[in-house]
Amino acid sequence: MSGKYKLIKEKYRFEIEDFKFPEKEYKTGRHDTVLPYHWALGKTWTRFFDGLREEKILGTRCKNCNKVLVPARTFCPRCYEDMEEWVEVGPEGTVDTWCLVDYKYYGQIKEPPYIIAQIRLDGADCGLTHFIGGFDLSDPDKVRGKIKTGTRVNVVWSKEKHADIYDIAYFEPVK
Ligand SMILES: [Zn+2]
Repeated sequence: MSGKYKLIKEKYRFEIEDFKFPEKEYKTGRHDTVLPYHWALGKTWTRFFDGLREEKILGTRCKNCNKVLVPARTFCPRCYEDMEEWVEVGPEGTVDTWCLVDYKYYGQIKEPPYIIAQIRLDGADCGLTHFIGGFDLSDPDKVRGKIKTGTRVNVVWSKEKHADIYDIAYFEPVK
């Protein structure tokens, strides 16, 4: 391969020397690839998800920096220390950031409109990504009146649980 590629510094990318696409328009066809797969949770996430089934949100604490991360981590990504101390966090928290999704796209797991948010649960040092709901989301202006950065929210559990992230149905604003 060496010698055939050269770095075009002005464009910050490599291009292949001595190659040009033929001057021709190609017809294209559309094909969607679906790739269902299973992935191993390992012991840390297994315990985290089993906790959700019991309506407990669990994090792990780093013995070096003392930070509590949720979902629980096997090791601290800052210190590379094993995180072996388990702590229960929440069930309330504060909205760090949020986004109202009001359009449809392929592969969505939920019918829009819905809010996806980063929620800093009480006792945690990072945000958990989950839904905010439990009220009318059809009018973005009304939603903006109800949800802001810093809004306090509380967990709403799903009635049926499967030891996965959807055991939490969503978070709703604290009344
Ligand atoms: Zn740490």
